[in-house]
Amino acid sequence: MTDTISSDRDAFVTACRDAIGAAHVLTEPNDTAPFLTDWRRRYTGAACAVLRPGTTQEVAAVLKLAYEHRVAIVPQGGNTGLAGGATPDVTGRQAVLSVARLNRVRALDPHNNTITVEAGVILAEVQRHARQADRLFPLSLAAEGSCTIGGNLATNAGGTGVLRYGNTRELCLGLEVVTPRGEIWDGLRALRKDNTGYDLRDLYIGAEGTLGVITAAVMKLHPLPAARVTALAALASPHAALEFLTLAQQCAGPLLTGYEIMSDFCLRLVGKHYPQLRYPFDQPHAQIVLLELSDTESEAHARTLFERMTEQALESGLVEDAVVAESLAQSRAFWDLREHIPLAQAEEGLNIKHDIAVPISRIGTFIEETDAAIAAAAPGARMVTFGHLGDGNLHYNVQAPEGGDARAFLAQYQAPLNRIVYDNVHRHQGTFSAEHGVGQLKVGELTHYKSDVEMNLMRAIKAALDPHGLMNPGKVLP
Ligand SMILES: Cc1cc2nc3c(=O)[nH]c(=O)nc-3n(C[C@H](O)[C@H](O)[C@H](O)COP(=O)(O)OP(=O)(O)OC[C@H]3O[C@@H](n4cnc5c(N)ncnc54)[C@H](O)[C@@H]3O)c2cc1C
Repeated sequence: MTDTISSDRDAFVTACRDAIGAAHVLTEPNDTAPFLTDWRRRYTGAACAVLRPGTTQEVAAVLKLAYEHRVAIVPQGGNTGLAGGATPDVTGRQAVLSVARLNRVRALDPHNNTITVEAGVILAEVQRHARQADRLFPLSLAAEGSCTIGGNLATNAGGTGVLRYGNTRELCLGLEVVTPRGEIWDGLRALRKDNTGYDLRDLYIGAEGTLGVITAAVMKLHPLPAARVTALAALASPHAALEFLTLAQQCAGPLLTGYEIMSDFCLRLVGKHYPQLRYPFDQPHAQIVLLELSDTESEAHARTLFERMTEQALESGLVEDAVVAESLAQSRAFWDLREHIPLAQAEEGLNIKHDIAVPISRIGTFIEETDAAIAAAAPGARMVTFGHLGDGNLHYNVQAPEGGDARAFLAQYQAPLNRIVYDNVHRHQGTFSAEHGVGQLKVGELTHYKSDVEMNLMRAIKAALDPHGLMNPGKVLP
């Protein structure tokens, strides 16, 4: 039986060579290694081959062969996902399908404000093409130089512009998908209105490659702002940061495109490991918020808005101190502080990460209650709390006590602290995965927190679209 299976796999690999060219079917360990370990180096798998089709038709040919030979397929884009979704299991029976060669921009329609791109186009390239046409593609995240638009869609990535422009889902109008049977669904519609039945596009977005392979997409573009100005505000608590968010939204409306929170400890960690990035205020403050305005009028207009809102907040005592960036370089330095937090955390040692969301109004209470529960369960644990406050999304991470053995800390506390955090998230009607997806990392949490009704509906969709379970098995659903 085992021999039959392995000879069928060999036949599959041989047939793939005929279908997409031997040069694009990788089997040598040196060639396949970069595709088999995830970005965080948490998972390493094996694969009978890494397949690199160059067109939608070639993807269809590969999936047809996989269907005939019953070989499971693991789609992969830039391999920057944080939940192990693009890594195959260890059996060597699965094949990785990289969309990297599907890298063409098919069309840009300035009047319709849309760009049609293949799944392997790197996010930064989509942004660049939009800018060249005097448009903004607002999806932005720290991995944008490596992640692909297909991966962004498959994980419904968030990033720093969600407050104003929404997640990747909100930026997508149409998709082209290859089904597990190898059929091509051309749903590349560039329409803002289309009420014609079930929304298949929304099924594939966020499915993490478990229902089909996304090969191209029509994405929305926005007007390029005339100026982007950032500011930092110092506050006493997350509650105050929440009140200031309301004030900022009243003053700036849709011009407010970023609202990120960073605790004092986050910035101290950054200062410790990246001393060139200085603490931005003379005195320490419990919470620092980074605000970004994307102004359609001018830089002067954005500054006036900032001055108005910070004056009001300083007078009422809501904000303790504030600084508006004087130049592009200073704006960049403010964002550098925010973006270096995960790097500083990694330098500090192993840590426990949570990418959670709760309704924005509950963030302050959630942090207070959960900090207290963690302090009681793991004395000395250091909280590294930062994130997209404007979206209710926190990176709520736990660092081992100063000078302690981080590996031993994780072995003892990871499971119980995860439970404390996720139970509190659940109590506040939040989610255990706000923007990183489920992948293989959080499959257990999915079954733990979703209701039977929701699990059964998800299983029914999976069974209907992928009856033989060939698309990214073991990811999202157990
Ligand atoms: C430094 C850093 C910062 C990050 N910041 C953010 C952030 O702010 N917000 C955020 O949301 N994420 C963030 N991420 C996570 C990651 O960048 C995103 O999830 C990204 O969208 C993944 O794209 P990718 O092309 O690398 O996908 P991959 O990692 O290759 O794949 C991710 C998942 O999508 C599936 N997939 C990939 N391509 C396709 C396709 N064409 N069709 C079907 N399924 C497919 C894979 O099977 C896998 O399940 C960050 C990652 C890093 C390393």
